[in-house]
Amino acid sequence: MKEDAVYRRLLGYLKPYWKQLVIAYFSMLFATLLNLFVPQIIKDAIDNGLAAGDPRALFVAGGIILGIAVVRGAAGFGQLYFGEWLTHRVSYDLRNHFYNSVQALPFSFHDRTLTGDLMSRATSDITETERFVGIGLMGLISTTLLLVGVIIAMLLESVQLSLLGLIPIPLLVVATIRFGNTVRPMFKLIQEQMGVLSSTMQESMTGINVVKAFAREPHELAKFDQENNEWFDRRYGLIKVWADNWPLFTFLVAASIFLLLWFGGPVALEGEITVGSLFALISYVLMLGGPVQRLGFLVNLAATAGASAKRVFDIIDTPSEIEEQEDAVWLDRVDGSVTFQKVDFGYREDLEILSNISFHAEPGQTIALIGPTGSGKSTVTNLIPRFYDPTAGQILVDGVEIRSVQVQSLRKQIGIVLQDPFLFSQTVAENIAYGRPNASMDEIIAAATAARAHGFITEMPEGYDTRVGERGVTLSGGQKQRVAIARALLTDPRILILDDSTSSVDTETEHLIQEALAVLMEGRTTFVIAQRLLTLKSADMILVLDNGRIVQRGTHNELLAAGGLYREIYDLQLKDQEAFVALEAEMGNRQ
Ligand code: ADP
Ligand code: MG
Repeated sequence: MKEDAVYRRLLGYLKPYWKQLVIAYFSMLFATLLNLFVPQIIKDAIDNGLAAGDPRALFVAGGIILGIAVVRGAAGFGQLYFGEWLTHRVSYDLRNHFYNSVQALPFSFHDRTLTGDLMSRATSDITETERFVGIGLMGLISTTLLLVGVIIAMLLESVQLSLLGLIPIPLLVVATIRFGNTVRPMFKLIQEQMGVLSSTMQESMTGINVVKAFAREPHELAKFDQENNEWFDRRYGLIKVWADNWPLFTFLVAASIFLLLWFGGPVALEGEITVGSLFALISYVLMLGGPVQRLGFLVNLAATAGASAKRVFDIIDTPSEIEEQEDAVWLDRVDGSVTFQKVDFGYREDLEILSNISFHAEPGQTIALIGPTGSGKSTVTNLIPRFYDPTAGQILVDGVEIRSVQVQSLRKQIGIVLQDPFLFSQTVAENIAYGRPNASMDEIIAAATAARAHGFITEMPEGYDTRVGERGVTLSGGQKQRVAIARALLTDPRILILDDSTSSVDTETEHLIQEALAVLMEGRTTFVIAQRLLTLKSADMILVLDNGRIVQRGTHNELLAAGGLYREIYDLQLKDQEAFVALEAEMGNRQ
């Protein structure tokens, strides 16, 4: 995006609030004009009061100045109040817009982007942007207006002396512009480094267990310190440029006054202009100093805002989700047949992960996926809810190409239980009802009971109202999994995806989870990434994956007889579970 496009787009955020904008800018204009008026009053006081020896003129001038202060106060209030209001209103809108976009970002985006960087964009970049759009922009305009106003007022006073006094001003303008150009890229680098800093912090906080377990706190500190230091260096570089330029700005103002006194003084002494006029001219030049310096600051602000806004818009502009076809239809409740037809897929264009995957699952069947780590089991299951789209081939649900239906309608019919489920820091009941927020308490309890979670939930201090997650009770892996199963049960999906890799739970918990899963799988098409012999034995079809291809398929007995990769995995990893399976069968018979 071009730079001016960024600013234009930012200003677009002000449009809905044009009424407040008008009040704010009108107040600002008024306050600025009143400022310009003050030297004129003082000029009158000097010429008509002091020089003419008329105290009444002095009183009048004093009174007017007081009056101006009062009116300017009111205008200043309007400027500040509505300016701040606009600032925060724009940041509110921008933040909402940003958050909406983040929710809609495709999985592939999150694969590429660090959460910390995203957080930094959501917080510090939006803050930098809002400051400019409200107060900053207004300051920029009022300052420019004041500068122009001062120059006009001076010219009206005395063209000759003004031209003399204003000689250093073009230099001042050039210096300010050059300053802005130097500073802008520096700001971009600073904002980027802020992103790196947030990512570093976020990562070590998320991984705090690992950090502590390996006693790597010093390393993490050093890493953070290094990034923080880099940030400081970049900031410092900026401050240096700023400080380097500051004396020049001040000097140029002083040069202006020098010229006025040196050449203008004699003119006043000869009576060509009044002493009051000279005083007014000097007052105007002094009025230039502040705004020009403020201009430097505001150019800064504008530059940061530009860099920050670009980072925010980058996210907002990322194509949301996988594209939905214009004529995508709502998928009604399906029976649950799933077909892969010659599906190829890669997370990156240059690296194919899945090749030529074809299979068909009838409604209610259980399909087990097995294969070495990295063979593509999870990737296959990621394609069914369209977390990613295949690069070639088709996926059909109930015979309908999933790309032709609305993503939401597809996902609503798919339940996913991962090995390490995520629970929000809400109550247990809210976590269970996450996929169906309007579920009744009875339904929640029924789901929890079926998921074998009711027991431990009622034993917790506040039962279903116990808060879990970061600021509440910590659940064990097995408990979390049963909450997740209850959550999936409540949404009553037609298709299930289970990552059933051996989790480290005791045999009793394992048994409970198996029971819960059996309830969940009842009557649904289930894809299970299996490590458990029992699951494999009861599957309708096992797909054996190796290196992104299906190398074998069939039932447990067929595959055992056939030899090959399945037999190898069985001998190495599964055989040991035979005793357990036998025991399980015996217990099943006894019941
Ligand atoms: P499995 O579940 O069988 O262990 P995966 O489907 O997770 O295997 O991974 C298959 C391959 O895809 C691996 O080489 C893995 O590194 C790669 N992969 C998995 N997820 C991603 C991702 N989000 N981005 C890029 N590559 C990925
Ligand atoms: Mg996996």
